[in-house]
Amino acid sequence: MSDPVGEAKLEVKQASKEAKESENVAEKYSAMTVSKNSEMNMGELSSAFSAVPTHKPVKKQIQFVEDKQEFSRFPTKAGRRSLSRSISQSSTDSYSSAASYTDSSDDETSPRDKTQVNSKGSSDFCVKNIKQAEFGRREIEIAEQDMSALISLRKRAQSEKPLAGAKIVGCTHITAQTAVLIETLVALGAQCRWTACNIYSTQNEVAAALSEAGVAVFAWKGESEDDFWWCIDRCINTEGWQPNMILDDGGDLTHWMYKKYPNVFKKIRGIVEESVTGVHRLYQLSKAGKLCVPAMNVNDSVTKQKFDNLYCCRESILDGLKRTTDVMFGGKQVVVCGYGEVGKGCCAALKALGAIVYVTEIDPICGLQACMDGFRVVKLNEVIRQVDVIITCTGNKNVVTRDQLDRMKNGSIVCNMGHSNTEIDVASLRTPELTWERVRSQVDHVIWPDGKRVILLAEGRLLNLSCSTVPTFVLSITATTQALALIELYNAPEGRYKQDVYLLPKKMDEYVASLHLATFEAHLTELSDEQAKYLGLNKNGPFKPNYYRY
Ligand code: NAD
Repeated sequence: MSDPVGEAKLEVKQASKEAKESENVAEKYSAMTVSKNSEMNMGELSSAFSAVPTHKPVKKQIQFVEDKQEFSRFPTKAGRRSLSRSISQSSTDSYSSAASYTDSSDDETSPRDKTQVNSKGSSDFCVKNIKQAEFGRREIEIAEQDMSALISLRKRAQSEKPLAGAKIVGCTHITAQTAVLIETLVALGAQCRWTACNIYSTQNEVAAALSEAGVAVFAWKGESEDDFWWCIDRCINTEGWQPNMILDDGGDLTHWMYKKYPNVFKKIRGIVEESVTGVHRLYQLSKAGKLCVPAMNVNDSVTKQKFDNLYCCRESILDGLKRTTDVMFGGKQVVVCGYGEVGKGCCAALKALGAIVYVTEIDPICGLQACMDGFRVVKLNEVIRQVDVIITCTGNKNVVTRDQLDRMKNGSIVCNMGHSNTEIDVASLRTPELTWERVRSQVDHVIWPDGKRVILLAEGRLLNLSCSTVPTFVLSITATTQALALIELYNAPEGRYKQDVYLLPKKMDEYVASLHLATFEAHLTELSDEQAKYLGLNKNGPFKPNYYRY
């Protein structure tokens, strides 16, 4: 077995020879990733990961919707109505199966008021009903089937236990897919305490299964705001256990620890953050000189952006619309606002079903892409009276205004696939002359005085998160990236990562992709020596420069 720490120290000493070193490590790395049969060595992985010449923090300028108010939030006693403002909307930036099959809505007792014990006698958890564990286990097993790359990482690395000693507090959606990630971290040696980043997305049965398996889970579907923060606090603040790693989705847990437990926060070895908003907050902290912990920005890694945003939406847009409205797409006129990754995915799916798709864009490059892909690029006002469906995916605000909603035709559908619920001006529809009729879960008819109805889905929140499931395979890609980022940060020798926000090296992205290629029995072409020389590449990657856009 190799000595990861030793190797890493050597690398730091040789920092001046970085380029050459990175080549050597890349070769080592490639030997373990390209060959299907070779056993992966986590020590090597750790070295390879960090030896890419990006030791310096790579900061990326990201544009965000207005979410400044979120960073100064504290738990309040306010009820659920205020949640959209007080709990990070970034919790909707990563995706999970929206539905819990065991809602237990008949059981009104708050989990906080129940005493529950798992079969090993532990009561260090708080879930809706521990008796649902067996059902949750089956859900996890189903998810495992489509997360084979993550499972293969688990199998390959579990003898080395690269996370031995890691005490990870996690705040993500608690779904069958996340459970596979959590159990992978445990198999690699970590101890985990987990809470939900979203008050609605927890699959109760999965939370029960994890608790039965010994993970301290504090989460249930339909938490109040007070519950939400209580659960986060219970994860962090427990006797005789101090976390040393964070896996966050939205930055709420990070924020809570930073504010409430600064001494614990200072001792954290690394933060892995998945969402746009969480990453934004980390950059803000870093800019203010207050980030005392290295952090990995998973959100901006290629394997997140180009897969989660594009393919996840391509797969789930139709599902969300069908489940809520039973709409037929053939011949329907649909306008998609924004032709970024999410918009491209939505347009591709709609086109495939025979919809007539229009695109609105502000950016000439994306507008031209839409034209070249065969879509008509229009201003929303040009088509507002004729379209059957509007889908927003811009990450912007007030993309669909009240004035435009007034002009939509009877029976048209409005929904949002973007990060926050600001894209459609839903607030402007809450006026006395309009009647709201809840016709199904997540489906409202907004009725104008003349009888015109517009169908608003999920009150303008993310459609696929709220109304459909999202593909497990895509989540496996993100989860594998998160697991590797945790391994790297945990094993990195002191000094390799400063108190800043880092992007995953391209080699890591390539590795995550290569693990998933096996599912498709895809066979990559290997560069010949002559070709590698001609292109100026290492035969084992990275194959693209950092600025390459895919
Ligand atoms: P992106 O930046 O690639 O694309 C957004 C596009 O919208 C850009 O091309 C931009 O020019 C355009 N745009 C901005 N304002 C506009 C306006 N007023 N009218 C028309 N076009 C406008 O971002 P993305 O990766 O496509 O993500 C878009 C949103 O979806 C983000 O909020 C992101 O967080 C969210 N997201 C959702 C899912 C999901 O599953 N629903 C997945 C990933 C990301």
